[in-house]
Amino acid sequence: MRKIFSLFLLVAALLLAGGEVFSQAFPPATRAEKRVARMQQATKNVSEPDEYRLGRAVAARVLATTPLVQDPQLQLYVNEVGQTVARKSSRPRTFRGYHFAVLESAEPNAFAAPGGTILITRGLLKLCANEDELAAALAHEVAHVAHRDGINAIAKSRWAGVVAERRVAAAKERGGKAAEMATLYEGSINDVFKSIATNGYGRTAEWAADQEALRTLKRAGYNPAALATLLTKMVEQEKTEKRGIYRTHPPTALRLAKVKMQIKDLQPETQQKVRDQRFKDQKI
Ligand SMILES: [Zn+2]
Repeated sequence: MRKIFSLFLLVAALLLAGGEVFSQAFPPATRAEKRVARMQQATKNVSEPDEYRLGRAVAARVLATTPLVQDPQLQLYVNEVGQTVARKSSRPRTFRGYHFAVLESAEPNAFAAPGGTILITRGLLKLCANEDELAAALAHEVAHVAHRDGINAIAKSRWAGVVAERRVAAAKERGGKAAEMATLYEGSINDVFKSIATNGYGRTAEWAADQEALRTLKRAGYNPAALATLLTKMVEQEKTEKRGIYRTHPPTALRLAKVKMQIKDLQPETQQKVRDQRFKDQKI
């Protein structure tokens, strides 16, 4: 487990070195986004470093049971696409930046840990026919981070306790070791982990993530329609596959119907051929 996490950190460090994060703010545009903005207001007392530490622990829990794909080139590629998307999201910057990693699992799934650690399975990658569809899957996860859906999944009473406890511990230990501090977050980690692995964030949060994904794709130069083509394949897969992303998300056919209604207003993209070739070059 330690070895796997080290590799994960290495991938993350590589990305940090390569990816420059630009700050770009976009005002809330839809009703769903306004609702999200209100939720963000409610959890604004959860600091960015708190969110980062919590997210790191949640990601570690996922990695404890599912290993990373041992292919640095693929990890780097997915990161490059992810960073491109994240920069154009409504939250282009987080405390320690966005990190993306591919999990060695046939189950189609993706996880967005608070603070910007995003994990996608090989099973979901295999469903993607091109880079735009990969970008669509990642943009949906980035939106969960941007909307702080993970943080919002934590019971408010619990979080208040964690913050108080941490202050006491920090005073005692003058900063303390990260591993010791992490134990204080256990209840919150459980809340977030349950949401991303079993319960999901709920329909409103999922519609909002799809809507933001469409706008993010357009801003990043990807084809927003890629979300619809990916969801179309997922509708088929969902008929026989009930695990992974289908367990935590609303029926894919409903997601697809909503997405299709939104796509009409969005313009087509550019540079499709270059991205198609880049995607084909990867060993997925
Ligand atoms: Zn989602």
